[in-house]
Amino acid sequence: MLSSLAESAANPSNREPATAESVGQLYSLLSDIKESLHDEVGKMRPLHNHRSHRAMHQFIQSRKDLAQKIPEFLQAAANASIQAVSTQAPLATGDATMSLHRVDPAVQRYVWGMEPPCLVHAMSGAADGTPEPWAEAWFGVHPRAPSTLPNGMPLTEFIASNPALGFPPFLLKALSIAKPLSIQAHPDQELAATLHARRPDIYPDASHKPELMIAVKPTRVLCGFKTSAELLELVGKLPALAAAFGAAAFDAFNSEPWSGVKGCLTHLFDHPETHEAAIAELVAVDGVAAFVHGFFGTDVGVIVAALLQHRTLQPGEAVFIPANELHCYLSGEGIEVMVSSDNVVRCGLTGKLIDTPTLLGMVSGMHAEMAQVTPTVSGPFRSFDCPAEFRVVGVTLDGGNTEADVEPMPGPLFVLCMTGEVEVSTPMGSSAVICAHQCLFAGIDLGLAGLRMRGRGEAIIVAPRV
Ligand SMILES: [Zn+2]
Repeated sequence: MLSSLAESAANPSNREPATAESVGQLYSLLSDIKESLHDEVGKMRPLHNHRSHRAMHQFIQSRKDLAQKIPEFLQAAANASIQAVSTQAPLATGDATMSLHRVDPAVQRYVWGMEPPCLVHAMSGAADGTPEPWAEAWFGVHPRAPSTLPNGMPLTEFIASNPALGFPPFLLKALSIAKPLSIQAHPDQELAATLHARRPDIYPDASHKPELMIAVKPTRVLCGFKTSAELLELVGKLPALAAAFGAAAFDAFNSEPWSGVKGCLTHLFDHPETHEAAIAELVAVDGVAAFVHGFFGTDVGVIVAALLQHRTLQPGEAVFIPANELHCYLSGEGIEVMVSSDNVVRCGLTGKLIDTPTLLGMVSGMHAEMAQVTPTVSGPFRSFDCPAEFRVVGVTLDGGNTEADVEPMPGPLFVLCMTGEVEVSTPMGSSAVICAHQCLFAGIDLGLAGLRMRGRGEAIIVAPRV
């Protein structure tokens, strides 16, 4: 029943096309089911006994399977709501769909985050900062941590009761990074579906996860392998590192055409006894390896980090992380926009699951230039174009340019003020003022109607690419 509901929501050309209302109901229904499944499984566990063990196990498994599918259905519902409202809904006035709404982020306290003062703490709006790390502030409707309205209502619930607003199919995050994150890659759409079908406990949805990172403070990024010449130079002077990559793999660096670094990684992951000596050599000559070693000791990720291209993004500079590309953020603060997905394949610098067989199947092992994104500038607007399902536009209002009309674009969208103070107004005459680190949410129709911005400061607009 759930599958057919989600399918019809995801495909408005079906016999019964999705409407904003039906998608809202579906979203609300799925959220309720997720909650009740969780409760049900929790209550059943202590009732285990030998006689009913098998039946109980099957029951719990079936509920778990269903719960795993819900984020996928929610994503389909989000996509369908935009299509449904863009094509079917009349332009309403004077209701929630044509108003601006303040939203507060959901904060994640991961170990690699910063202590206040930092960007994530500022975005949280919290009066005092506890020292536990402030890592991420999420603006969006991800089922794990939806944003909230000032009255505490989750944005998911608010949209479900005003479905013509639409569910944003992306996640906007602020990151405050004190320590390196895990070395990771995200699957493409096809692999995401396969991984999710095979291991839903590890890969919780069937979506890819393209990411755009815009630096707010200088941000150190590793992404994509170095060139064969750079890697050859490195192993040429470090015999223990060459041994960790294996003799055959070392020869691969000298071959023409170059076969990539994949064979080296395979040997490296299969021979943990070689890591310590290789790392001892590396940290003496490689700044990135030395930095990562300071946090992670003899983790294999120290060696992998030294194989990757390293850039320090200056404030306003951006990088796009395509599917299947190894990457890692080392330090800094920035804004990250991504498709709402949790599919991460890790190979080091983490206490979470390391899945090197999957990772080796994904990465090409070849060098590709890091995809820095240079924004297209038009008046006060900077458009960060990248091949993903979202649009990201920076707006700078200053001395000569204190007013700007945002081109109409279908929402749902977020306007996040980064510095100063910005007034956002609608064609219907309502307006809202946001200061640095405050965020507004607007529905599909309001985005299409067009917004005007006034003031002195900087803001970032994120909307779906349709
Ligand atoms: Zn990532």
